[in-house]
Amino acid sequence: MLFSFDGDDNSPWLKEIRKELAHSMSEHGHQETSNPDEAGLVFHTVSPTRPRPFRRRSQATFVIGLIPWDQPITQPLKQLYPLLVRSLANLVISGTPGTGMSYLVTPELGNYSVSHDLPDFRDALYDRIAPLATSHLVIDNLFDNDLPEELRDGTQVTREMRDASRTLASWNLFPTPYPVADMLPAEDYRHLQRVFGIGGLSYGNLSARHEGEVFWMSASGVDKGKIGTVSRDILLVKGFDEEKRAMRLSVAPGADPLRVSVDAVEHWGIYRKHPEIGALIHVHAWVDGIPSTTINYPCGTVEMGNAMSDLLDQDPHPERTIIGLRNHGITATGPNFPDILSRLEGRILAQVPMV
Ligand SMILES: [Zn+2]
Repeated sequence: MLFSFDGDDNSPWLKEIRKELAHSMSEHGHQETSNPDEAGLVFHTVSPTRPRPFRRRSQATFVIGLIPWDQPITQPLKQLYPLLVRSLANLVISGTPGTGMSYLVTPELGNYSVSHDLPDFRDALYDRIAPLATSHLVIDNLFDNDLPEELRDGTQVTREMRDASRTLASWNLFPTPYPVADMLPAEDYRHLQRVFGIGGLSYGNLSARHEGEVFWMSASGVDKGKIGTVSRDILLVKGFDEEKRAMRLSVAPGADPLRVSVDAVEHWGIYRKHPEIGALIHVHAWVDGIPSTTINYPCGTVEMGNAMSDLLDQDPHPERTIIGLRNHGITATGPNFPDILSRLEGRILAQVPMV
């Protein structure tokens, strides 16, 4: 992947981290370009006092914010998360000169520190960047106004999806120590919903097979406890357009649809590969004792889909199981929503372990 640096480097920490990042990226086969507009991954300098987003020319560009800090970082999530949101970054890295430490924060509330003194400092840094540097986002939606008339008021499946979303909302699956909505100004919170599709963070999304590879899925950036309207917040996904790298959706003529959840491409891959799966629930919460992916690829990438599919392939009962997405959440499979909910109830933990 092509990478680039954007913005100034007038702090000792910035100079050092940029040098290390450039080395570590090229050691792993990525090439630097001086033109951020052609890069798939941009390291963007973010001012702690006046954070500005990098203007992505393509929505599929990943942005890593580099934040020079002049005070010691004592509460990385509290200090850095608002800047991640305001800079619309997919990850932020921050550090204070002379401390020999850098801190990383992700949209899913992951937070890590890396010591510059580690003999494998560059590798440790790259481990955290690799999921972005090696994956491909699918975020465009193509809407066709061809939803068959008999589906326009929904089906048994869409009604079960609405009920399941109410049940999940009643479980209050919120990462308790860091209530994002309280932590951020309202405007930042809306940014978060729009850019990362993880608004509410209370949980992720739901989908259920309609027939063949076609499935229903919840929209992004909407309070999932309130979904229920077909062609607006419950969308029929026809498939993935490889050429346009976009999800293709079927909506009623004259509909005003929201965008489908960013995870649609992963769910599409799973329904295709596992015809025995009828429904999927993805939540930003955890269940103890489940197998988990080893790399935390971003939501909405082909690579996240493949990692999930590989885990399901290894499962003796892929049609009725729960898999973990590292530092992110879980995805549960089953024949339908009531079956999945009955297996999650009482086992689900609001806090995702960060490793
Ligand atoms: Zn998610």
